[in-house]
Amino acid sequence: MLPSSASNVPPGNPLQLTSFDPATGEAVGSVPVTPVDAIPRLVHQSREAQRGWGALTHAERADVLRPAAARLKAEARRLGELASREMGKPLPEAIGEANYCADGFAGELDEIVAALADTVREDARVRSILRYAPLGVCAAIAPWNFPILMPHQSVLPALVAGNAVLLKPSEETTLVACEYAKILNEFLPTGVLTPVFGDGTQGRALVLADVDLIVFTGSRETGKRILADAGPGLKRVILELGGKDPLVVLDDADLDAAAAFAVRNSFRNAGQVCVSTERIYVDAAIREEFLRKMAERTRALKQGNPRDEGVNVGPMVSARQKAKVVAQIDAAVAAGATLIAGGEPREGNFVAPTILADVTHAMDVMREETFGPVACVQAFRTVDEALRLANDTPFGLGAAVFGRDLARAEDVAARIHAGMVGINQGCGGADGCPWVGAKESGYGFHSGPEGHRQFAQVRVLSRAK
Ligand code: NAD
Repeated sequence: MLPSSASNVPPGNPLQLTSFDPATGEAVGSVPVTPVDAIPRLVHQSREAQRGWGALTHAERADVLRPAAARLKAEARRLGELASREMGKPLPEAIGEANYCADGFAGELDEIVAALADTVREDARVRSILRYAPLGVCAAIAPWNFPILMPHQSVLPALVAGNAVLLKPSEETTLVACEYAKILNEFLPTGVLTPVFGDGTQGRALVLADVDLIVFTGSRETGKRILADAGPGLKRVILELGGKDPLVVLDDADLDAAAAFAVRNSFRNAGQVCVSTERIYVDAAIREEFLRKMAERTRALKQGNPRDEGVNVGPMVSARQKAKVVAQIDAAVAAGATLIAGGEPREGNFVAPTILADVTHAMDVMREETFGPVACVQAFRTVDEALRLANDTPFGLGAAVFGRDLARAEDVAARIHAGMVGINQGCGGADGCPWVGAKESGYGFHSGPEGHRQFAQVRVLSRAK
């Protein structure tokens, strides 16, 4: 069996954290685990370093970071290769992720600086300035599924806001996160960005240490634990959590576009995307044709070693993740679901892209986040029924609606209880939009001007006119 995340910190050698290639089982490399008892000292050092860093203006801090964009760009291929080897993402996508961070770097810095500029509010009596001050020390705790982008999205606004950051990447993807931090640290003053390596033990120690802000991206379960641990100290938290995104396909939808979207968005990154399409509700009148088109496109996907030419679906990140996904598929089939695609036994950590029809909400696969290449299709007879099903979940991250009548599709989209809903597209918004989950998918949010301001303490300075 290939190593799972739990075994990445071997019990016999607690000092090293080794990454294993989930496609081949080969060791990729190791980093030293951060001893838990060193964490309070690292947090103290961060607090010392934050004094000088926090005294700069937002624009000055952005200027310190600006040259890192070119370094990230120059290293995009190396970072992408490392990410692909650590977590199994197809190589072009992994390099694309590094390039995305590098290409958007300067614009992101400018957007953060603009979002954190003083704003003035006044009435007949008082003139007030809203000032966005640093919070202090930020713990940024990241998942493995976008191992460059997820750290980047927390670290950049936290730093420009004037905080010192301790970055705790996932135990699955420490090597690439380490390289990312090294690049930023070529330009940052010492102690402003400190990587912390380990698993949930180190993550929890960081949350419990003397930090002022916890920016977490990960599962709903861990998010709840962090919220409980942050509670007694009333520490600020931003929690970006899991999802169970629905896609509603209305009877007038462009079925080719809807099926293409469903296949891309259910199987991208082997389904290990927070806004993967996991539940598909399709009008009963078009169910057959939609399933046929989806199955055709699914058969055209190439699964294999993520570094091989043309492969668009890699392995699950770990044996543990595979076991969870396979258990959901098997239980659904045993309870009456029909396999339209996938289901074949696979070697190693691979799970074939799978389409399940005739699913119900009594099945785990329709209730719990799968985080694997599984698309579940359920028919509906009325739009109200589709909405009832789409909203029958504690999650509320993303969603999509496909339909040609835009007024109707928009009306359906507005009635889905999710943070981000796409109409005839994915849920990602225009530049400047926040990345935001509703219900149990998020607690606070990041990105866009509103998101950037959550990394700062707003202060109101008022005087009589
Ligand atoms: P996870 O919750 O298992 O781990 C995330 C991070 O938290 C890791 O670094 C881990 O070491 C750390 N951690 C674990 N226990 C901790 C604790 N008690 N205190 C502090 N830190 C702790 O999640 P994962 O498996 O790495 O990532 C997959 C999950 O992330 C999925 O649920 C996915 O939907 C979610 N995700 C959400 C978004 C979003 O934007 N909403 C984006 C990417 C991933």
